[in-house]
Amino acid sequence: MSDFTKISMKTPLVEMDGDEMTRIIWKMIKDILLSPYLELKTEYYDLGLENRDLTNDQVTVDSAQATRKYGVAVKCATITPNSARMEEYHLREMWKSPNATIRAILDGTVFRTPILVKGIVPFLPTWKKPITIARHAYGDIYKSTETAVPAGAKAELLVTKKDGSEEKFLIHDFETPGIIQGMHNIDKSIESFARSCFNFALDCKQDLWFATKDTISKKYDHRFKDIFQKIYEEEYEEKFADNDIEYFYTLIDDAVARVIRSEGGYIWACKNYDGDVMSDMIATAFGSLAMMTSVLVAPDGAYEYEAAHGTVQRHYYKHLKGEPTSTNSVATIFAWSGALRKRGELDELPELIGFADKLEQATLQTIENGTMTGDLAAMSTLPNVKKVGTEEFLLAVNETLKTLL
Ligand code: NAP
Ligand code: MG
Repeated sequence: MSDFTKISMKTPLVEMDGDEMTRIIWKMIKDILLSPYLELKTEYYDLGLENRDLTNDQVTVDSAQATRKYGVAVKCATITPNSARMEEYHLREMWKSPNATIRAILDGTVFRTPILVKGIVPFLPTWKKPITIARHAYGDIYKSTETAVPAGAKAELLVTKKDGSEEKFLIHDFETPGIIQGMHNIDKSIESFARSCFNFALDCKQDLWFATKDTISKKYDHRFKDIFQKIYEEEYEEKFADNDIEYFYTLIDDAVARVIRSEGGYIWACKNYDGDVMSDMIATAFGSLAMMTSVLVAPDGAYEYEAAHGTVQRHYYKHLKGEPTSTNSVATIFAWSGALRKRGELDELPELIGFADKLEQATLQTIENGTMTGDLAAMSTLPNVKKVGTEEFLLAVNETLKTLL
């Protein structure tokens, strides 16, 4: 490769390093698959738990702000501290999930897409193309208030307006004990969600489906439907027509039936809870969480690419003991390729876009030629499967990549 001129970049990528096994993989990907070919330009933020603790989590906030400034970030999986981690890392505080902090600053929508590869067959034989789930990441039951109600109680919704006037709505007269829940959403957040979905659909030239239960929830879910429709008509209808794609609204139960019968190849926008449930269904039905990309798209056009899985703690402890590991790096490789491609598009660097395409192609080709990590080897229907270790897999991808470049 001595005659290979390294591809240069213009704007730095915001690089968010992380924890455990994925941190090990992160460095290997840079050393084996990126640095030999790119004059890699990044602004580095260490979101590893030690450094988050050391900086009072300021590093997470800084990395999100840098993402707004530069427009594209790539993030390694990170530990969300719980009480076990408090002890393990002697933390000063139980820091919030970095993903939640970043999402709150970028106000984004999360898009998750399965990576399809020959030999890993979806549980639904009709699915030929990936189905992307777009999950609204604000409000509803995730920010709700709920309580148990005793017999004889009357529960009401009370809205106190700015001028002090009140409006009351009866929830239920309880003859016997029961439960109630109050939840909310904000028009502005739903509008951001809608724009992120429409922009993403234009980006990947795929149809957008959106579904709620507006026939039953005539005010709440209906507001989602109305906001999507208004923004579509005012800002996107023409662009969709120009790109030969469509926006389509239906009831959530109808959507589920259509998704199962479909052959894939579209984006399915879901309210917060629907997206939480459906993304696990989609990931599992397509094969595995280790083969799922995830990108946070902000309404102002910032992108943050990551893997959908966690830090693979169990493998990391094997690695620390010096035992061989076979951890799947595909989703993390695709986080890098996604970020590099987006940077290439924004900076008009066709060579960088080409490299991102080839890196993905090399990864899939390596697996389709039979070389893969243990998780995939256990599922693959290919005849000659060779299970390899974590680093061995990346070295094999590099051999394929050399033939493509
Ligand atoms: P996980 O890291 O996703 O791993 C759960 C299990 O799934 C693993 O033990 C492994 O199964 C399998 N797996 C996941 N990714 C794999 C890969 N790339 N290759 C092979 N197998 C893979 O979830 P976790 O162990 O529950 O969580 C670990 C840490 O990750 C937690 O501290 C959590 O806070 C954090 N987390 C971070 C993110 C994020 O940053 N986006 C997301 C989720 C969780 P086997 O052990 O059976 O091989
Ligand atoms: Mg979930």
